[in-house]
Amino acid sequence: MKCSKHNDTDAVSQCIDCGRGLCTGCTNKFSIPICDQCELSRIQADRKTFVRNIVIMIVLFVVGLLAGQGFFERILEGYFFAGIPWGWNILTRITPRMFLFMSWMGWIFYFAIKLFLAMIIGMFVTPYQIYRVISGLKQAKKMSDYTEGTLV
Ligand SMILES: [Zn+2]
Ligand SMILES: [Zn+2]
Repeated sequence: MKCSKHNDTDAVSQCIDCGRGLCTGCTNKFSIPICDQCELSRIQADRKTFVRNIVIMIVLFVVGLLAGQGFFERILEGYFFAGIPWGWNILTRITPRMFLFMSWMGWIFYFAIKLFLAMIIGMFVTPYQIYRVISGLKQAKKMSDYTEGTLV
């Protein structure tokens, strides 16, 4: 198989999303062996999640502000609540699929545990997650310019 982008170079691996051939250079371009198009669509999917999380985050932040008493407690509660969607995302990514086959009792239990863990994880990961997505968006902008340039 040849590299899908460099037609005269042998492929050494395949894109993990679509199976297109990748040469050594293309394999090492990102942290995982993935082609430009699939990397771009992953970043775009991330962007959708990001926008949704920001909206939920603002709502929860306001709820936290209202729930607290006194200035610092309000800010803390706001921050605490605002982390939930980010922690939730991480948990969703690492949760095994077998949880999908539980009874409704299991679901309630699972939901409560997940919400609790999401809050704790969120406290630590929120700043990093926001940073990561913003740098990802910059890269996506660069890449879509680049990809459009090469496709023309
Ligand atoms: Zn691909
Ligand atoms: Zn290549």
